[in-house]
Amino acid sequence: MNFLQETGILTEQSGVSTGSRRLTGEGANFASHSPVDGKLIASVASASRAEYEQVIKSAEAAFKQWRQVPAPRRGEVVRQIGDALREKKQALGMLVSYEMGKSLQEGLGEVQEMIDICDFAVGLSRQLYGLTMHSERPQHRMYEQWHPLGIVGVISAFNFPVAVWSWNAMIAWVCGNVCVWKPSEKAPLSAVACQQIAAEVFAKNDVPEGVSCLVTGGREIGAWLAEDVRVPLVSATGSSRMGQSVATAVAARFGRSLLELGGNNAVIISKDADLEMALVGTVFGAAGTAGQRCTTTRRLIIHKEVYERFRDKLKKAYGQLRIGNPLDEQNHVGPLIDKGAVEAYLQAIAACKAQGGRFVVDGGVLEGPGYESGCYVKPCIAEVEPGFPIVQTETFAPILYIMPYATLDEAIAIQNNVPQGLSSAIMTLNLREAELFLSAAGSDCGIANVNIGTSGAEIGGAFGGEKETGGGRESGSDAWKAYMRRQTNTINYGNRLPLAQGIKFDL
Ligand code: NAD
Repeated sequence: MNFLQETGILTEQSGVSTGSRRLTGEGANFASHSPVDGKLIASVASASRAEYEQVIKSAEAAFKQWRQVPAPRRGEVVRQIGDALREKKQALGMLVSYEMGKSLQEGLGEVQEMIDICDFAVGLSRQLYGLTMHSERPQHRMYEQWHPLGIVGVISAFNFPVAVWSWNAMIAWVCGNVCVWKPSEKAPLSAVACQQIAAEVFAKNDVPEGVSCLVTGGREIGAWLAEDVRVPLVSATGSSRMGQSVATAVAARFGRSLLELGGNNAVIISKDADLEMALVGTVFGAAGTAGQRCTTTRRLIIHKEVYERFRDKLKKAYGQLRIGNPLDEQNHVGPLIDKGAVEAYLQAIAACKAQGGRFVVDGGVLEGPGYESGCYVKPCIAEVEPGFPIVQTETFAPILYIMPYATLDEAIAIQNNVPQGLSSAIMTLNLREAELFLSAAGSDCGIANVNIGTSGAEIGGAFGGEKETGGGRESGSDAWKAYMRRQTNTINYGNRLPLAQGIKFDL
């Protein structure tokens, strides 16, 4: 029996569908291998250009109907998707863990995040508030309202193969949009499973085909979405390189993009930190998910008075990390996604050494029983200078760079002086330091935390970052506004036509 039969999560494997209607997948067939044991899970057929056209046409037609459905009714359908996810949580979490390589706890956590965003979207469906303004003209009423955009293209990365889609899709749907999802080619089966779960709920509620579409395949399909004038919003999660290409194509046709790209997240460890708390937060942040979170802690900026003490604690903690099958709850660290990622990890270690880095915990690739996939690597720690080119780069692997500082201003400057701006944190019990870090003169990131690490955001806040992280915001707070267009309305209920700014135009 194979993994999919065991979990019962997938009954079909077409990566191209408009909901209940599955297209055959005329594009290239690509295989999904598990990084856990290297085994083939299944092959998925990707979309041809002709099938992509069919999908977009179906989505366009569906939008005309879906936008007319009252938002709370759309929310009711999303509520049912949340319930379906609750039922399938264990099986879907296992598939995510097996296909992507994150721990089972994190796979289940990712599905929980989907459930949470469904709940959030249900409440939102009765809000979507606009403002009213006082008109300068008598007997006029002025207000704004929010309308859906149309087709929202969602391009997602391998490391959150299901949650990122749900952050976008659940919010986009209650706003009245339809979605076309291009998942990562490295985790297509998790996407097929989600599409199936949503499609069943949509069919039960007589929602038209095309509200939830899936087009699996390589980056060229992402590029089709980016260039397609029929797709007013492209929400793209992945590397900064991908984001630049997508943003350029979308801007060239005056579309909108919502970008969630790479991070290079740092934690400042003050001399006034609770070092035990700081240790747990930083080790989880740096080694958890094998360093494959956009919010992974990649840099530690440590006060010189506690530098050696904290470095030694880190070394000891890293010595206790258990690396192995992520479905086994005893293990802390699972595999990297594929051998390409292992190669990038090795190259980064070599570059770090060449630039003068000194490893205090060595890296390396693990071999032998349990490590047959060739994707298991050792989390490692290097002492560096903040300006090394490799320290300025996001390597999607468990490499932690550590460096000392003398003053908080210096620490904040080091923290900010990288091209990316996603997540950041300070560990301190000193109120002045904490507030300075959060002030306008402090962290320049989209996320700034005190006494927790850089990873593990909650859905209630707006998620995203600045600079090369792309500037997008997803999930909670008022991130829904990115999925709607604002319309300002002025109504004259008087019997005269006064012009704004007192302009006279008498005939
Ligand atoms: P990736 O950029 O290789 O691929 C991401 C997605 O973009 C895939 O679906 C891929 O097919 C598609 N794609 C790639 N090039 C494209 C192009 N030129 N045009 C259109 N689509 C294209 O990223 P990955 O390796 O899957 O994920 C890791 C990266 O994602 C890291 O940089 C990580 O920081 C980032 N990430 C960011 C966030 C965030 O919220 N900020 C969340 C998760 C991952």
